[in-house]
Amino acid sequence: MSDSNLEAAMKAVADSTDLSVRPIEKEDEGPTNTSVLIRTTDEVRERWRQAAAVEGKTMSAWIRDVLNAKAKTLLECEHPSVRRYPWSVTCLKCGQRLQ
Ligand SMILES: [Zn+2]
Repeated sequence: MSDSNLEAAMKAVADSTDLSVRPIEKEDEGPTNTSVLIRTTDEVRERWRQAAAVEGKTMSAWIRDVLNAKAKTLLECEHPSVRRYPWSVTCLKCGQRLQ
């Protein structure tokens, strides 16, 4: 490839490269100890952004709140008041003694 061909090729690449930047989301005031990178599609990301906007939250805050609620449901027993006997003080779901 001659220098002129290389130059033309590089210009073509530069012209076709999308240098536009996504609009920056509203500043997130959440914890900054670590970050999680979530792979998804532009369509799903846009849905998350719209859902967060409905609740007036940044997308980060919204995702954090949704996942925290789900994790709490999965990891912590809410000790539903279903008892085998009226005097039972043991949670039938997780087995924890409540009194
Ligand atoms: Zn329980």
